[in-house]
Amino acid sequence: MKQLTVLTAAAVVALGAAGAGSSPADAQEQFVVIGTGGVTGVYYPTGGAIQRLVNAGRADHGVRVSVESTGGSVFNVNAIRNGELDMGVVQSDVQFNALNGLVQFDGQGAFDDLRAVFSVHGEPFTVIARADAGVASFEDLVGKRVNVGNPGSGQRATMEVLMEAYGWTFDDFAQVSELASNEQSQALCDNNFDVMVFTVGHPNGSIQEATTSCETVIVPVEGDIVSELIDANPFYAYSTIPGGMYAGNPDDVTTFGPKATFVTSTALSEEAVYTIVSSVFENFDDFKRLHPAYSTLTPEAMANDALSAPLHDGASRYFEESGLLAQ
Ligand code: GLU
Repeated sequence: MKQLTVLTAAAVVALGAAGAGSSPADAQEQFVVIGTGGVTGVYYPTGGAIQRLVNAGRADHGVRVSVESTGGSVFNVNAIRNGELDMGVVQSDVQFNALNGLVQFDGQGAFDDLRAVFSVHGEPFTVIARADAGVASFEDLVGKRVNVGNPGSGQRATMEVLMEAYGWTFDDFAQVSELASNEQSQALCDNNFDVMVFTVGHPNGSIQEATTSCETVIVPVEGDIVSELIDANPFYAYSTIPGGMYAGNPDDVTTFGPKATFVTSTALSEEAVYTIVSSVFENFDDFKRLHPAYSTLTPEAMANDALSAPLHDGASRYFEESGLLAQ
């Protein structure tokens, strides 16, 4: 740490934050904190994948990413809005609602400074019931003990949209709990409730835990009400959870869901966002290999699909340079 003596006081502070092994170049570093989700979901490893790719080049570009496990989409958007996070992974439905001040953001007004960076994997709304609960369809949730997700999570947001569409309130369930994604699988198998929900890419650790620890059924979510929701909302689509992906669930299951998207605000510099986007897209094959939920990703879809907020200047600069934007 001898080199510290030649630096200014401000640089010493920056070095302290950067930790051991820092070099004088770190004084120029820009720190970017990314909010993700629970550790057994896909957001958390997605943040980790981005962190790894960006930080590998940090001696050259000076951007250093760190990742936080959080309560999920709605938490992430709110934390970006109030400056606690620089970027976050959020569901495309939550991105749309935050941008326009709708549903869970009603009362906060439109988040005009929200910016899209790119989209990632699809997130089927996943309903897992204990096999002994007698739940074969989403309609069967009435009268059951349901874990509706923690406030701040995307699954809670999607669940509330569905409940509204079905005309249900929490009183329609025998019991309501609000455990986060990393706690609910164990609690389901401990028989603390009959059903858990998770809007999440597949495969993931949470659903693997539930389906291997006890007998479960992955419940389809389809029918007229769901079709109407999809028709009215471009950020939703029908999707399939493949049969055989999880223990005890050999058949394909139809459900619907949003996509995971990566967002920030106008507060983050064009240079930082450009660096992050190029670190991911210039190493696309490495990125794709980092999680099995990314198996169908393409650079074109990531640059164009499911993004309702305007692109951040740093992202549009990279996409224009690389010809990725749809005409
Ligand atoms: N879609 C969930 C949310 O918005 C998180 C999914 C995950 O952790 O992969 O909260």
